[in-house]
Amino acid sequence: MAAIISSEGHNLQRERGEAYINMDWDKIGYDVISTDQMFIMKSSKDGTFTEGMLIPFGPIEINPNSSVLNYGQGLFEGMKAYRKKDGGIQTFRPQENAMRMQMGAERLLLVAPSVEQYVYAIKQVVLANERWIPPYGKGSLYIRPLLFGSGPVMGISPSPETTFLIYTNPIGNKYKGHAGEINLLIENSVPRAFPGGTGGIKNISNYSPVLHVTKEAKAKGFTDVLFLDAVEHKYIEEVSSCNVFILKGNVISTPPATGTILPGVTRKSIIHIALDLGYEVEERRVLVEEIIEADEVFCTGTAVGISPVKSITYQDKRVEFKIGDETTSMKLFRMIRGIQSGDLEDKNGWTAEID
Ligand code: PMP
Repeated sequence: MAAIISSEGHNLQRERGEAYINMDWDKIGYDVISTDQMFIMKSSKDGTFTEGMLIPFGPIEINPNSSVLNYGQGLFEGMKAYRKKDGGIQTFRPQENAMRMQMGAERLLLVAPSVEQYVYAIKQVVLANERWIPPYGKGSLYIRPLLFGSGPVMGISPSPETTFLIYTNPIGNKYKGHAGEINLLIENSVPRAFPGGTGGIKNISNYSPVLHVTKEAKAKGFTDVLFLDAVEHKYIEEVSSCNVFILKGNVISTPPATGTILPGVTRKSIIHIALDLGYEVEERRVLVEEIIEADEVFCTGTAVGISPVKSITYQDKRVEFKIGDETTSMKLFRMIRGIQSGDLEDKNGWTAEID
């Protein structure tokens, strides 16, 4: 049989016994690396998903009249598959991502895969790209599910067809090269989301409207931007791709997920772990002045993990926070990463083994 070669020149047929793709896993960062296969499933005429399939990773055809290209009718998700010490593979709370996608689909009038279809598809695509999952401790396989209106529309209306597509990309442990500690700029002129808007779902069009703000902040040396509420400009909301927490004494506070911030899976898990560890946890509106006075600040997300915030700059004033191994944020990080990578016992049934 002729070899199937991807556009990057990788042989798509797995050779027996070949555990890993041949690459320098110590150098892996946060770059685009195409893997072997992607999963695709299109809704049928009756508005349900029936059968999906794995196909070689590569460009897809899309109708210029599609609602995603014209009106941004689309969602995405982000998850990781981890290689355990014993070589096994697991994902973290995939049902939560499936349910978040369903919430978004309801808002954007897309067809959503059932939780079972979603989790099954994740397993298929992870297994098909198994040799791209970094060895234990070297990183993870980032999983990117997309859900979008792929059918043609004339005028603003929901798509007659939804496509569910999942691709993967191996990544290292350091999010975009920063060593896990971040310097944030508080932005009070451009809000990211507003009451009644789509901040609470992973809408594809939530992200590009703030690219200019984050680009400017990065040019000034900041890692990212911390956005404020759109109405009073005085409560903290979230960072462009992660949730934010503050610690004062024994109390951990984080803005409530009431529609203007994304209900992060990591956020939910950290709240659970912090309560188990005996911290008081408050989901409530947090004033900018409080964050400035905090003992510790940290961000949570699939990509960033738990990242301690080293400094926050607000109206030209820079405040620094406690960082390092002895902090609460590192304690929480070690707990969640231990569970995700299979090093610590998963008492809550959060991990899903892939075999
Ligand atoms: N907020 C935003 C805006 C995000 O894009 C993400 C990443 N999904 C998060 C928070 C963190 O969510 P999670 O913990 O589910 O990755």
